[in-house]
Amino acid sequence: MSKDRERERMIGDRRLRPESLMMSYGYDPKLSEGALKSPIFQTSTFVFESAEAGKAFFEVAYGLRQPDLDEEPGLIYSRLNNPDLEILEERLALWDGAEEGAVFVSGMAAIATSLLAYARPGDVIVHSGPLYGGTDHLLRVVLSDFGIRPIGFPAGVPVAELASELREKIAGERVAAVIIETPANPTNALVDIQGIAELVKAESPDAMVMVDNTFLGPLWQQPLQHGADLVIYSATKFIGGHSDVIAGAALGSREALAPIRGLRTFLGTLAGPWSGWLLLRSLETLSLRMQAQARGAQEVAAFLVEHPQVRAIHYLGTTLEDDPMADVYYRQCRSAGSVISFDIHGGEKEAFRFLNALQLVKLAVSLGGTESLAEHPASMTHADVSREQQRSLGIGASMVRLSVGIEHPADLIADLEQALEQV
Ligand SMILES: *Cc1c(COP(=O)(O)O)cnc(C)c1O
Repeated sequence: MSKDRERERMIGDRRLRPESLMMSYGYDPKLSEGALKSPIFQTSTFVFESAEAGKAFFEVAYGLRQPDLDEEPGLIYSRLNNPDLEILEERLALWDGAEEGAVFVSGMAAIATSLLAYARPGDVIVHSGPLYGGTDHLLRVVLSDFGIRPIGFPAGVPVAELASELREKIAGERVAAVIIETPANPTNALVDIQGIAELVKAESPDAMVMVDNTFLGPLWQQPLQHGADLVIYSATKFIGGHSDVIAGAALGSREALAPIRGLRTFLGTLAGPWSGWLLLRSLETLSLRMQAQARGAQEVAAFLVEHPQVRAIHYLGTTLEDDPMADVYYRQCRSAGSVISFDIHGGEKEAFRFLNALQLVKLAVSLGGTESLAEHPASMTHADVSREQQRSLGIGASMVRLSVGIEHPADLIADLEQALEQV
């Protein structure tokens, strides 16, 4: 981080919190006619002050030489970088306490670019299960075709119980990366990041431990502090928060991100300036939104737990008593977040009747936005997971996933109540 940036973060010897920095950090109004807000730098290319300056920018961008100590990367072309995205990367890194960030056109672009930067034919990728459907497909279908083999282990099981089997599976393999989703989608089952990182690195020290932290976001879980090398987001969800932008991010040390940034340039997976600008807007309210959503989810969960039509609820705030992973929750998470899954009595027919009866809550996939959304994992987000696999992961026909937004919790409960009555 440059000295200027370091100064921007301080008042006297007080280090400012991310909430206080999201409106200004990394942006200098003097460079943009005094505009309070960063303009949208809707430009494909940038004018060099001289041919020598252009040459110097390329040398650094293409890794032909190391940058001088205080040399900022020059702006060249918006597939390599753009001011809106640079500011966004610096602000995002603050939340996770990361050295650097890299943003992408989507969460999948962040995941794919990060995995491809580290995995080579013959390698294996260790992953928790269940995974986000897109990531699961990327591993099982796309990367498998390149000779990169996925090795899964179940979320929700203490490391001590899965250690010997996992160790056996990875013995003698080069593990390029570990990708963990905790809490898992849609079951909210947890993974012990530190425990898995230590286990895998004991066998394969170069393994990059990546955590998809989309579900809890940087407010409620900071994987870099629990042994992860990289934290990855679908910024489409809580970070964007308004269901109006698709984007992704990877955060970590400069060293861990270097090959990922390099590959991003050549795969062309950097986000555009308009997405960057929307996310800058979103970051200003990230903390407020996530707190309101978590509070709302707590009230909604308390209602669902007591409802006679609800057979089971999968939400960290209410199910910890008999969870063997409770200690992982207290160590790793600061909140249960705002995604609740629950099973209603019956099967698909009953779940569909409930979903079709909702009025305020919208029937849509995705999560983390200001509006509440409900969906049916077995037939929608997890439709291409085999029935057998669904059963072993605990994804049943009667399961509904609910992302709680910022509506008044009493109104949400009224909507859920009338829809449950129609089941
Ligand atoms: C949505 C999501 C993704 C994919 O993100 P996109 O922005 O849709 O590409 C990855 N991981 C998790 C956990 C998600 O919820």
